[in-house]
Amino acid sequence: MVSNGLIIRRGKPEVVIPEIIQQLGPGTVQAVTFQEEATSEELDVEAGVRKACGQCGVKVQSLWGHTLFHRDDLPFSAKQLAIGCISPRQIYHEIKRYEKERTSNQSTYWVIFELLWRDYFRFVALKYGNRLFYLSGIQGKHIQWKQDKKLFEAWKDGRTGVPFVDANMREMAATGFMSNRGRQNVASFLTKDLKLDWRLGAEWFESMLVDHDVCSNYGNWLYSAGLGNDPREDRKFNMVKQGLDYDPQGDYVRLWVPELKDVAGGSVHTVWTLSNSALSKADVSLGETYPNPVVIAPEWARHAGKTVHYAAITLSQSSGNPTQKASTTRFGNPAICK
Ligand SMILES: Cc1cc2nc3c(=O)[nH]c(=O)nc-3n(C[C@H](O)[C@H](O)[C@H](O)COP(=O)(O)OP(=O)(O)OC[C@H]3O[C@@H](n4cnc5c(N)ncnc54)[C@H](O)[C@@H]3O)c2cc1C
Repeated sequence: MVSNGLIIRRGKPEVVIPEIIQQLGPGTVQAVTFQEEATSEELDVEAGVRKACGQCGVKVQSLWGHTLFHRDDLPFSAKQLAIGCISPRQIYHEIKRYEKERTSNQSTYWVIFELLWRDYFRFVALKYGNRLFYLSGIQGKHIQWKQDKKLFEAWKDGRTGVPFVDANMREMAATGFMSNRGRQNVASFLTKDLKLDWRLGAEWFESMLVDHDVCSNYGNWLYSAGLGNDPREDRKFNMVKQGLDYDPQGDYVRLWVPELKDVAGGSVHTVWTLSNSALSKADVSLGETYPNPVVIAPEWARHAGKTVHYAAITLSQSSGNPTQKASTTRFGNPAICK
């Protein structure tokens, strides 16, 4: 227990909450309150908490508070649940107060706009239920996804040989966080460049992100995979252009990929195009100290100049070696490689 009375426990809520109730002694806990969620595993947890509290004789109160808009104000109804440490409505009202007292600008506009995306994915989950986790997504579209374990591991370990992807994946592994720009890029890379089963990426994010949210994560992955509601079906990010746009001097890459720390400027985004002498000056040996790219998309050349060497392509040809799914997976079929 911390000094302000907040108790922090690790474990399953349906087990830990009754333990706390018992430790505090009979009659001490008047009620257990939580915000209602939207997805099936979380709804099962809620049912477990309700049951366990009922057995302890403690009242349960739940409320819908996780979104800016209330679900009753939408043209469809659902009886799902939500949780959160700060309410989006509190943020909204603070921003409105700030705009009134100080100034309204692009930043205040965009925070509210981004919160609407968050609402959007939660309402998508309410509307489509478990289709959020289907391989074919909410569109029911059948795409031949690969299950190449080697490629997946290169992606998740930040060893694809594509520096912008690797830097983001390593940041997430070290801190549990990745920027929205990074998430969009690594998701596009996994689904559109490597053509791997999008659920591999979504599950990996679920296991790594400190801000994991089922609806935002799976909704965004579906969107990236072209299986959500995005009207632009063939949206694909260009890793080299994005790297140069958002990290023009390459500082972000050098921070998270120390093998490339002596590669100068933005050229770090296309390290495979460097001459042998530039590589050896930076103490980089491709295929040894840092991988050759697992794939090179043709459109990258437009942004890397004429120095892109296609000879550097070393695509993994392995047909994949799917292992059993993790027992905690959200998906009904076992063909997921971990
Ligand atoms: C593949 C992928 C997976 C994602 N997984 C998650 C996740 O598990 N949990 C999560 O909270 N967000 C997720 N996001 C959304 C977004 O990346 C994060 O909310 C954002 O990085 C948080 O950083 P911020 O607070 O600086 O965001 P800001 O840009 O400051 O936005 C403010 C808030 O708006 C919301 N928001 C912004 N963008 C999105 C978005 N695209 N979708 C939903 N909400 C958004 C977040 O609550 C965020 O904190 C994911 C995005 C992608 C592309």
